Amino acid sequence: MKILEVKNLNVGFNLSEGYRQAIYNVSFSLEKGEMLAIVGESGCGKTISTMSVLQLLPESACIKSGEIIYNNENILGFNQKQMQKIRGKKIALIPQDPMTSLNPLYTIGNQLLEVIELHQGLKGKDAVDVAVKALERVKIPDAKEKMKAYPHEFSGGMKQRVIIAMALACNAEIIIADEPTTALDVTVQAQIMDILKEIKEKYNISIILITHDLGIVAQNADKIAVMYAGRIVEYAENKKLFENPEHPYTKALLKVILDINTKDVQTIEGHPPSITDDISGCPFHPRCSACMDICKEIDPCLKCVQGSMVACHLYD
Ligand code: SF4
Repeated sequence: MKILEVKNLNVGFNLSEGYRQAIYNVSFSLEKGEMLAIVGESGCGKTISTMSVLQLLPESACIKSGEIIYNNENILGFNQKQMQKIRGKKIALIPQDPMTSLNPLYTIGNQLLEVIELHQGLKGKDAVDVAVKALERVKIPDAKEKMKAYPHEFSGGMKQRVIIAMALACNAEIIIADEPTTALDVTVQAQIMDILKEIKEKYNISIILITHDLGIVAQNADKIAVMYAGRIVEYAENKKLFENPEHPYTKALLKVILDINTKDVQTIEGHPPSITDDISGCPFHPRCSACMDICKEIDPCLKCVQGSMVACHLYD
């Protein structure tokens, strides 16, 4: 069952040089209990696309058009008061740095109880039971004792578990995890991804994972949207994307992880364009070894290619 659908989203920024478009006709959907990964290099529009869902964009940003359908309603038209009922409660955010969500002055327990009271209306023993259960679900040992601890007493990985526990305690239906493991070492990264995968499977929670790490995506995501320069350039099921990538950018990204595995580290030559660059045609053309004349003039649209959606003139 489809729980979230983003349709033809266009977002830009009002900069000193004028209006600049950052997101071009981005569309994706999320089923219940599914993990969608949005991947691409820094600045490709992963975070802007997903923060649009929560209406948590910088002041200079402006959503030009599109629809964000959540539970059959277009929430793009919702005001801040309506969004407050969704944010944290129905759609929770796990940020890269958990300290942006945790207050260093309050215990973990206080912070959990506060969100449980706010979003579930529970107080006293009932709220404590929900909080302890949520901490246990993310495998925090001695959960009852740990309620008394302050965030600084927890490691980075344990803090991320607390943020996930907050989402569980509020019965969130969707979790947006924005580079949730970037600041963690490899073993802890794997533990956090295991927890996210487990809650997805056990509690049917849908997850949007924003990451530049294709290794994590390969092991965890069901579906993948590859973004470049504010556009989705390939959108496919996990197996299809990793076994048979179609877009030259996806192929280049996959080659980078293969080379890392063989210790022959390479990057994709060149840089992604910035929002202020004027590039005509396909935005990947300055870096693409398959570039043709048409690529310099016409920006390709997404079309169905062997079961994937791909934006590339090679498949015209
Ligand atoms: Fe390369 Fe052309 Fe395809 Fe763009 S449209 S990815 S430049 S082949």
